[in-house]
Amino acid sequence: MSGRLSGKVALVTAAAAGIGRATALAFAREGAQVLATDIDEAGLATLIAEGLTTAKLNVLDAQAIEAVVSLHPTIDVLFNAAGFVHHGTILDCDQESWNASFNLNVGSAYRMIRAVLPGMLERKSGSIINVASAASSIKGVPNRAVYSATKAALIGLTKSVAVDFATSGVRCNAICPGTVDTPSLAGRMAAAADPDAARRDFIARQPMGRLGTAEEIAHLAVYLASDESRFTSGAALLIDGAWAA
Ligand code: NAD
Repeated sequence: MSGRLSGKVALVTAAAAGIGRATALAFAREGAQVLATDIDEAGLATLIAEGLTTAKLNVLDAQAIEAVVSLHPTIDVLFNAAGFVHHGTILDCDQESWNASFNLNVGSAYRMIRAVLPGMLERKSGSIINVASAASSIKGVPNRAVYSATKAALIGLTKSVAVDFATSGVRCNAICPGTVDTPSLAGRMAAAADPDAARRDFIARQPMGRLGTAEEIAHLAVYLASDESRFTSGAALLIDGAWAA
């Protein structure tokens, strides 16, 4: 199949739902050979029907990451989507929650990049895309203390990787979405005392008066994965309907 990503192999984490899923499907539509990974095997199974290759992968598990990457040594595009939203201020975030958020939101990218980067460097080519957030070093958002700290750290890691390997053919960028309609957002709304009010509040904070879609984020991911973006590295690209403007 020809497309903007034809000939490329892309590994996507957290691909069973939301932004990861939409991106895995968009990569495949653009001709990439996609390895969609997640801990949710039932969710992954629905991607097999779409022609994607899948593998169960817990991004907290460094050994499992090494095993998957050793089976798929040629990875041109790494899309790090795994992340968790802890709700609350710093006072609501105990040490265990703090550590767990950092381990998933930043540690996953650390582990994935360390596993995939050597192969990219050998081939002098690669695009790494980390899913950060507007809620980060970019914008203070109520009740997102540890979440924003992790996403700011992810932006810092993105810039470091970009600079350290700028002459090696490997690029690293972060996508910083605003509020995107995904299963995890739906779950956060459903868990609120008044789910309808929670949905109205999430929409009200978006200047466009609507949530983003995972497909809208996937379009940016395709661009960053493709050679069209070859002069883009170290960028933290907002895609937030003017939320942080
Ligand atoms: P989601 O939360 O709806 O889906 C997450 C997926 O991650 C699920 O399929 C789940 O099984 C998988 N997952 C969870 N723990 C895992 C683990 N340890 N290993 C592998 N997979 C695991 O996804 P989403 O809302 O699209 O979020 C994706 C990314 O985008 C996250 O990093 C999130 O922080 C970021 N983000 C989301 C929004 C939003 O509004 N939805 C906004 C900004 C940034």
